[in-house]
Order: sequence, then structure tokens, then C-alpha cells
Amino acid sequence: MTESNNKWEYAPSLESTSHIQLKERYDLFIDGKWVKPSDNRYFSSINPATEEKIAEIAWASDADVDLAVKAARKAYTEVWSVMKPSERAKYIFRIARLMQEKARELAVIETLDGGKPIRESRDIDIPLACNHFFYYAGWADKLQDAFPQRNIQSLGVAGQIIPWNFPLLMAAWKIAPALAAGNTVVLKPAESTSLTALKLAEIIEASGLPAGVVNIVTGHGDTGAAIVNHPDIDKIAFTGSTSVGKLIQKAVAGTAKKVSLELGGKSANIVLEDAPIDQAVEGIVNGIFFNQGHVCCAGSRLYVQESIADEVVRKLKQRMESLYLGNPLDKNTDIGAINSKEQLQTIEKYVEIGKKEGADMYQVTCELPAKGFYCRPTIFTNVAQSSVIAQEEIFGPVLTVQTFRTIDEVIQKANNSPYGLAAGVWTDKGSRIFNLTSKLRAGVVWANTYNKFDPASPFGGYKESGFGREGGLHGLEAYLK
Ligand code: ADP
Repeated sequence: MTESNNKWEYAPSLESTSHIQLKERYDLFIDGKWVKPSDNRYFSSINPATEEKIAEIAWASDADVDLAVKAARKAYTEVWSVMKPSERAKYIFRIARLMQEKARELAVIETLDGGKPIRESRDIDIPLACNHFFYYAGWADKLQDAFPQRNIQSLGVAGQIIPWNFPLLMAAWKIAPALAAGNTVVLKPAESTSLTALKLAEIIEASGLPAGVVNIVTGHGDTGAAIVNHPDIDKIAFTGSTSVGKLIQKAVAGTAKKVSLELGGKSANIVLEDAPIDQAVEGIVNGIFFNQGHVCCAGSRLYVQESIADEVVRKLKQRMESLYLGNPLDKNTDIGAINSKEQLQTIEKYVEIGKKEGADMYQVTCELPAKGFYCRPTIFTNVAQSSVIAQEEIFGPVLTVQTFRTIDEVIQKANNSPYGLAAGVWTDKGSRIFNLTSKLRAGVVWANTYNKFDPASPFGGYKESGFGREGGLHGLEAYLK
């Protein structure tokens, strides 16, 4: 170990991949069986850190989706909705336990398939996904206690479509509350990150969960659209881009389907002059560079009070230079690979827009690996509130920095966004926290921390960030009549 500049150099510490089990080709998990896609179409899942193919994944057609919905309907009517809630709970607990047993394998596969650092998949994604199953298993036989004034009834078949940024965690957010409330499920993972959902299907198979209660259909947007448009689905739960969210809303308008949408974000992270600055800098880094900025609630707009702006930006640049970018399987890595080539191109397009708009760009000076999709952590200062990079979601490690003088000014600026998913506030004073949190139009507001999740606390947005809440009792309610 040697020290160069302000950065220690470590010998590589690679997580082993020898213990993972992956098939070369994955079929669809329908009615408790592995079923070939009717069109015999498959697509490749790529490791974004090496650009190598990991496995082939089935591409479900309308007919395959129909088969999955029929299986889910049958399982709902004949088995799951009539089962004693305490029995349902046991299955959900069993899935959680099996996930825990396979946690290491799941973490490695998540990192291989999605590009996120192994430290994050090991310490955040997988444990949180397990905790969601444990948490909702606990509620499965206490629904009447959870909602005492109501006649508890499940909805039926839930169609669930998830994105690529937290593949297994999003699957858990969707499946666990749906099952606990007595529904059956057809879930579609994102095309670039289907593998952990397919491993979850294997776990579900091993758990003995009755056939058809959970069906996993892989594919691209057309497979998602087939779920959205299927007439025998009672509820659509979607997490993804605002543009697809709007399409879904149009498609279900005038139908009896219930919908919850968790869409994009452009969340404000606000640092007041009395904030503990080093702690805030850590929170800013965590808020935007965590998971390469592939977080819908990423703190991608930084607002710093003018009197401390120079110091915060200087310390932020220093901290950025100390981040390790590279092989996501290395336990020292802070910044892994961008999820796909397309996403890297999108981020690069926004970086160019930022430069053209006249903002000052600062990028970490580290070298990028020769292969794979990587992006240097980037900040823009001298950014106008109306600029594209301060308004549109970039979904990458790109932060805009603006200053403010008064609290009223920053509330206005923070709320001046089409989105309203999350926000962060850094200050020493509790009264300022309460003042800001009550006025910021965001579904989640963190105080003196950022990106903290817990299965018991609800998550969701305002405005174009969507509607409906996931997590906690709110998340359960979304699956009840
Ligand atoms: P992102 O930009 O984060 O990839 P998308 O909204 O494109 O977000 O994708 C999120 C999920 O929605 C993925 O599983 C994707 O396959 C699916 N999807 C894409 N287009 C559609 C569509 N028209 N209808 C339903 N699902 C779709």
C-alpha cells in the first residue's frame, strides 16, 4: 500500500466469482416451471464492466405474458387468496431466509450484471431486499390490525415492471407487499439486469411457493407493454422513467386497473451555513456518486449557502479525487460501471450540454479502465437554475452546484423542478430542518444524511416523480382494495 497525492493505492481485492451458479440461458418462470419463450427469442445480458456476455435471457411475447397472467389468476383464485394469512406469511419468511442464505451469490451476480460496486450490492441491495421480505412477512397475518377500520381484501393479479438500478431490491419492493396482501404477481425485470430476478425465481421455486403465485417474465419494453395492456391484470406497479410512466398512465386510463408509479427525480441536497461541512461533503458524495448516480432519488442538485460555498466545493473536489473508480468486483471500488452503453451515452450527452450551457465543469482526474462503460464523477458550478443540466434527470454521476443566500430562496429553487422525489437538508438547527422539510415538495426529505432506506418507511414522489408509496404500511395499502 503506497500513498500518492491524497490517495492510497491498494492491491486489488477482488470478490471471487467461483461460487456463483449461472446458466448460459434463462427461460421464463411461469406457473412454477421454466418455459421457453413462444417466439424462441433470446437477448444477451452484458457485464457493463467488461462488455462480456453473461447469459442469454428469454424475450417474452404477448402470448407468454398471457400465459403468465392466466397462471397468476388461477393461483390467486384457487390457492393464494383462500390460504390462511399465517400460511402465506410462512412462505414469505421462507423466501427471505433462502435469499439470506444465497446473499453472497446474489451480491456478486448483481454486481456482474449491473456494474455496481460489490460493497454496495453486498451491504445495501441484498440485505435490504431480504429485509423487505422479512418485514412484509410480518404483516401478512396482521392486515386487519394494520388497517383496523377496513374490510381487508386483496386486489388480484399485480403486473409489476422494474428498472435496472436496484434490480433485486426493486423486485423485493414489488413482490413482498403484493404477496403479503394476498395478491399474485407477474413481474418483469429490466432487460439489462434480469439475472437476480431469475435467481429469485429459483429461490421461489425452492421455497415451495405454490405454482403461479409469482411469475417472472423477462423481455424489453414490448413485454412490459403487454403486461400493462393485459385485460386481466388488476394493478400495475411501475418504477422507471417518467416518459414510460406517462405512457402507462395513458394506457390504463378508463380501465379498472389500479396504478402506482415511481418515476424520475432531480432531488435537491441543501447545505446551510451552519452545517457540519465534512459530514455534508460525505453526504453529497453519497447522494450523487453512490451507485454511479443510478438512483432515482440521487441528490443531483446541490444548493450551498453562499458564505460556505467555496469551502464546500473545495472539499468536495478533494473528496471526489479520493474515490476509487474501476472494477466493481473489487472491494475497494467506490464507483463502478455505468449500467449500459446507452446510459453512458445519455450521461455524456448531458455533460456536453452542460459545457455548452456555459457552466464550469470539474471531473475527477483518474484513469478509466480500457474496457467497459465508465464515467468520471463530474460536478458543474456556475449553473443557472433554468439550465437543462439543473432541470432534467441525468441518472449518472453528474452534480450541479448552485448557491443561495436565504432560506426562502433555496426553498423556491429546490421546488422549482418538475420532479419531487427526495431532498436532503444539512444544518445544525432542528428548527431549520422542520421549516425546510415542511416546505419542500418531495416525498422523502433526509436531514443530515442521504440515501437512507428502511422497509418500514414509505417512499414515493410528488409531481412527475409519480404517485403511490412503497415501503411501510403505505406500500401494503397499495395492494389492497
Ligand atoms: P430506464 O430509463 O430507467 O431504463 P424505462 O422506463 O425505459 O427506464 O424502463 C423501466 C422498465 O420499464 C424496464 O423494465 C423496461 O423494459 C420497461 N418498459 C420500457 N418501455 C415500456 C413500455 N412502453 N411499457 C411498459 N414497460 C416498459
